[in-house]
Amino acid sequence: MDIQISNVFETRRGKRCFNTGNYKYSEFRVLKSGDLLFRCTNKKCTSRVTVNKSITRVINTSNEHNHEAHTDQNNPVETRNMLLQNPQLGYALLQALVRIKIVDPETARTMLHPAHKVPPPLRISNATATTSRFQPISQTPNNGMQ
Ligand SMILES: [Zn+2]
Repeated sequence: MDIQISNVFETRRGKRCFNTGNYKYSEFRVLKSGDLLFRCTNKKCTSRVTVNKSITRVINTSNEHNHEAHTDQNNPVETRNMLLQNPQLGYALLQALVRIKIVDPETARTMLHPAHKVPPPLRISNATATTSRFQPISQTPNNGMQ
């Protein structure tokens, strides 16, 4: 038994999870050996896997799953990747979440990239020769009024 783990991710609560063979496991506890025990995320399931410290491979499995495997349709890793590759889809999803009031607009705003900050234009004092030299040439309405 030597299953490689390549898609470890963290839940919002900071628990590490991974998928293997279409089953999802979340961090359960640390064993005396330093290895980690992960349990199936299905609460009614007793399936457990022991993984090495760095969570790169499954060392041991215990108990069979008593439910269907996850399909690709509810694979969070797939979904995450899809959203990362299609930012406009993520934006649309966020907008939808605001519309149906799952996420409030203020929270949604903090998830977006801040507006691109443009540095203010350089101020040249009136005394500078450059400005005074060019002012008479400009034909803006304001200048005409004066
Ligand atoms: Zn299970």
